[in-house]
Amino acid sequence: KKERLELLAAVEAVTKDGAEMRLSANISSVKELDMAVKYGALGVGLFRTEFLYMDRSSFPSEQEQFEVYCQVVQKMDGRQVVIRTLDIGGDKQLDYFPLPQEDNPFLGYRAIRISLERQELFQTQLTAILRASAYGKAKIMYPMISSLEEVRQANQILRRAMADLDARGIAYDANIPVGVMIEIPAAVTIADLLARECDFFSIGTNDLVQYVLAVDRMNEQIAHMYHPYHPAILRMLRTTVEAARNAGIPVSVCGEMAGDERSVPLWLGLGVHDLSMSIQSLLRVKHRILNTTAADARSVAEECYKFATNAEVEKLLTDFNESSR
Ligand code: PEP
Ligand code: MG
Repeated sequence: KKERLELLAAVEAVTKDGAEMRLSANISSVKELDMAVKYGALGVGLFRTEFLYMDRSSFPSEQEQFEVYCQVVQKMDGRQVVIRTLDIGGDKQLDYFPLPQEDNPFLGYRAIRISLERQELFQTQLTAILRASAYGKAKIMYPMISSLEEVRQANQILRRAMADLDARGIAYDANIPVGVMIEIPAAVTIADLLARECDFFSIGTNDLVQYVLAVDRMNEQIAHMYHPYHPAILRMLRTTVEAARNAGIPVSVCGEMAGDERSVPLWLGLGVHDLSMSIQSLLRVKHRILNTTAADARSVAEECYKFATNAEVEKLLTDFNESSR
């Protein structure tokens, strides 16, 4: 069975009736790249950079970061690598950068909020990413965006990093695509406004589900309430995809939902053709896509959008998954 799955790695992810899907990998270290390529990832859809900052005693320098980002883009050899800027806070802490004790860390000082306050740290990271962009296909992605002002402020620091590299005579991709994670409900409702000033969206369903349903993703006691197939989530997905489509920018999904093969009909129904997931999920999802007829999947998705409860959506998706295996 394992061998058969590995043969799958070389096959393109296309439904029986020809709908194509691009499957990329979520990674957090250079070590994972060989596996990602082996399992057929067409790119890195989410590079979680916080792991570069962890298990050490001080912030990584521009040069240290550059070397890591450069290795990743070079190893991916022209395939796209979406590098997400630092997303600490929430459940992720750094030993050498004590964050204040908070009553609600997931609603607190994290991700882009820290980057926009500690601009020198942010600029260092952006400079390192820009330098790596001269060696492969890099994209920049901002986490936890909740307003257009945050995007504009982040871009201002990005321009500063570019000016600094210009002054130092160092090459970078001046047209590097800059996108945002859609993982806060506010970002969904202003997706049309964000789309005008972003090059791409990536939907982070892990946080989106947590914030839309007000269910802490780490809290075991309420884990049974963490429902990715809640109608509210489906509507959020649709709003985001429509906003991206209207603005003519690409949209992908990089949360755990992308790695759940039962979701495939939802993506086909919405017209999402770009998914990024943990390496272990790549072949399972591809296998699902190869055994799916897009036309059938689209009518399943349409049914899902009519349901009023998570249970009904989940049951139909589970049944469809089992019937066409
Ligand atoms: C997400 O929130 O869906 C996501 C992909 O990012 P993380 O899991 O790192 O918060
Ligand atoms: Mg997230």
